[in-house]
Amino acid sequence: MYERSETVETWALYLDGQWRAATGNGYFDSIDPFTGKVWSRVPRATPEDVDLAVRAAHQAFTSGPWASMTPTQRGRLLYKLGDLVAMHAEKLGELEVRDNGKLLTEMLGQMRYLPEWFYYYGGLADKVEGSVTPIERPGMMHYIRYEPVGVVAAISPWNSPLVLTVWKLAPALAAGNTVVVKPSEYSSASMLYLARLFEAAGFPPGVVNVITGVGSETGEALVNHPLVERIAFTGGESGGRAVYQAAAKSFKRVSLELGGKSPNIVFDDADLDDAVKGAVAGIFAAAGQSCMAGSRLLVQESIHDAFVEKLVAFAGSAKLGDPMRSDTDIGPIATPPQFEKILNYIAIAKDEGATCVLGGEQASGRDLDGGLFIKPTIFTNVNNRMRIAQEEVFGPVLSIIRFKTEDEAVQIANDTLYGLAAGVWTQNLARAINLPARLKAGTVWVNAYRVVSYLAPFGGFKNSGIGRENGKEAIREYLEAKSVFLNTERGVPSPFVMRLPGVH
Ligand code: NAD
Repeated sequence: MYERSETVETWALYLDGQWRAATGNGYFDSIDPFTGKVWSRVPRATPEDVDLAVRAAHQAFTSGPWASMTPTQRGRLLYKLGDLVAMHAEKLGELEVRDNGKLLTEMLGQMRYLPEWFYYYGGLADKVEGSVTPIERPGMMHYIRYEPVGVVAAISPWNSPLVLTVWKLAPALAAGNTVVVKPSEYSSASMLYLARLFEAAGFPPGVVNVITGVGSETGEALVNHPLVERIAFTGGESGGRAVYQAAAKSFKRVSLELGGKSPNIVFDDADLDDAVKGAVAGIFAAAGQSCMAGSRLLVQESIHDAFVEKLVAFAGSAKLGDPMRSDTDIGPIATPPQFEKILNYIAIAKDEGATCVLGGEQASGRDLDGGLFIKPTIFTNVNNRMRIAQEEVFGPVLSIIRFKTEDEAVQIANDTLYGLAAGVWTQNLARAINLPARLKAGTVWVNAYRVVSYLAPFGGFKNSGIGRENGKEAIREYLEAKSVFLNTERGVPSPFVMRLPGVH
């Protein structure tokens, strides 16, 4: 059994290889969502600290050991880091649970899997190959080289703090960039701890910098900094929009991983026991605080009532409690604003005329009183035009929508501003093959839900974002292609006319 330390831990910023307090010595508290008590103090970085961090990253990018390192050497550093992360996985997992209240079993799983990103992109570092083009002009050679972009700003949310940051860090570093990380103000500790491992692995000063603070202050200063060339952001729609607008001012490269209202579709030919577990994995795992939550469950009319009955019985038996305990199924809501937002959406759903068949309120009593808990909540009779079917709740609230035919299911599934993920439950082979092509989502799971891999691209269609993380392609997101033309003949033709073959 994990014992929470009563000592309040004080963290430091990691800038240019130095550990230091924020300018002006400002801090903010981080609250353990289960106990409701302050467990750590995190530096509140000012725009001056942001400037120092970005300048350090810029310096490390343009001169010094990192700039002259070969891709193979960079890859080896990433392997070393992967080994260190594996050794410290338990500590990292515990820090994340204290910050965001997600289950230790889930966060430990994430931390034990995390080294794969460092190994995979470490391996890719020296496999970024340019190419020679069979250019259509005599006496001219052409080749393409791939070069790192420069200083990358990596901004991440609280729900899976390190995983979502490492999806950015590992390919950015493998490609030769330097990075300034701004973790969420609700979950900074694990990234500050990871910075210690970067230092121990021997990354030169300035290659990775961690500044902590709130989005509207530290985050904004970072995305607006003129020396930042690329922004990799994961978070909500309003933050994403602000970042995109800031990036547009100076044409910074940008990737955005945003929210979702993902459909999880159950056909009458599905294995219903598996589909019940899939529905629960979609919305009650992580208390629904997951970008890929299957928050709209589309159930075929012929099995609707029987399926809902099974689902309500299963979800209703979930045990709420201390996220550090291995027998807990659902932990607390991570932050007070998130808790209020979820309760507000429950009220909206009731007002809209949806039928609450499970939960629908705060959970309390026993050992739940220190934290903010919401009972697993299921609404039936939801119409896809209702707000509860269109807006991201980011909590344990499921909207069940009926459909009759496959075409209707596809129409409802795609009738959303989002497009992050979708689930399909069927034993029909043709349907299992045809549906993924018809669903407008960056990831489709068939007879599975909430599976990710360092090998598989992840990202959203429509309002769910721009760009992809993971897989081979992600490293290209941190590289610029450069076209080089090399004339091998003497004698430059008329300098006043652009020479195109076949144009005289
Ligand atoms: P958020 O947008 O409030 O914050 C995310 C990060 O952005 C934080 O570090 C925050 O400080 C920073 N930030 C906020 N405003 C900013 C600004 N104007 N300029 C610069 N930085 C700013 O999101 P959150 O509440 O931490 O996370 C929940 C959201 O994240 C949900 O909408 C969820 O769907 C989304 N999310 C998406 C994915 C994905 O991969 N698509 C994964 C996890 C979470």
